[in-house]
Amino acid sequence: VARVPLGRPTPRRRKTRQMMVGSVGVGSDHPVSVQSMTTTVTAHVDETLQQIAELTAAGCDIVRVAVPSRDDCEALPAITAKSSLPVVADIHFQPRYVFAAIEAGCAAVRVNPGNIKRFDDQIKDITRAASDHGVPLRIGVNAGSLDPRVLARHGSATAEALVESAMREAELFTEHDFHDFKISVKHHDPMVTIEAYELLAQQCEQPLHLGVTEAGPIQQGTVKSATAFGCLLRQGIGDTIRVSLSAPPVEEVKVGVEILRSLGLRPRQLEIVSCPSCGRAQVDVYRLAEEVSAGLEGLPVPLRVAVMGCVVNGPGEAREADLGVASGNGKGQIFVRGEVVRTVPESRIVETLIEEALRIAEEQGQE
Ligand code: SF4
Repeated sequence: VARVPLGRPTPRRRKTRQMMVGSVGVGSDHPVSVQSMTTTVTAHVDETLQQIAELTAAGCDIVRVAVPSRDDCEALPAITAKSSLPVVADIHFQPRYVFAAIEAGCAAVRVNPGNIKRFDDQIKDITRAASDHGVPLRIGVNAGSLDPRVLARHGSATAEALVESAMREAELFTEHDFHDFKISVKHHDPMVTIEAYELLAQQCEQPLHLGVTEAGPIQQGTVKSATAFGCLLRQGIGDTIRVSLSAPPVEEVKVGVEILRSLGLRPRQLEIVSCPSCGRAQVDVYRLAEEVSAGLEGLPVPLRVAVMGCVVNGPGEAREADLGVASGNGKGQIFVRGEVVRTVPESRIVETLIEEALRIAEEQGQE
């Protein structure tokens, strides 16, 4: 497998309007950002802030909190005051919480027109409040809560129906000369999601928030999100992403960050190139790869580490990486930047790789 240089060209982005969600720029002039959503009761301020801190450490850029009750709404000022990330309030059903969230210092507000009755009547006041405070909005259309009028026309939540619903609300915003909003059109089926965002990208110049909604447990959700986001981001469509998993939100962030890294949209830190193992393997590749990953997690410098099971592809990959091991006969040849520096028994491969990685990190830190 040929080495893909870390500095590979990134996909060209679709030109969009720009906006600031707190300190994070969203739009084609800014890097694609990663979002997640807290799972704590928002009104439990300390727990919510703790979870936000964990998401920050995992690489999250923007956090969303649900605001289903008055207690949650009243907790927003305390959360926005101490959050390490820009906070987006997620509002369904209660237009009055939109005003409260804007007043509370939220960096943006997500509204779901399908779930806010009388939304059309209140749009003028909502856009004025958002404009006055410099707070962008997101029109978040979901297949599961599509505007009933649109659903009735299309019969089901097709890509066209999702986009029609989003554009209908977008027009209400622009009629009031409000343009500071992004849009999402989420479906649980990645193919419908891709189609919907492709259509939407042709019809507006707003930044797009990508998501496959209710994507499922960690493995299925990861695959669905990576499939949809990969297709869209490769075309330059998408300005901020949220991976939805039935798993702790830190996992969503890790997957989102890894998708961006795989597309060359976020710099790599640690990359483990490990072989899948096969009948030729002369060491336990799975264990080695896991132990090396765990031992080097959080390394502060970019590093590609090859963990290879035998001499077929081992020396080649190990030579191409910053650091690597090619195993054979219960031993490991340790490579650093293409040169064999040591040969160690299998029992010492992991500790030697970690030792060498820390040495490289220290050297890089001094450069
Ligand atoms: Fe099999 Fe060797 Fe390739 Fe690993 S490197 S998959 S052990 S042939």
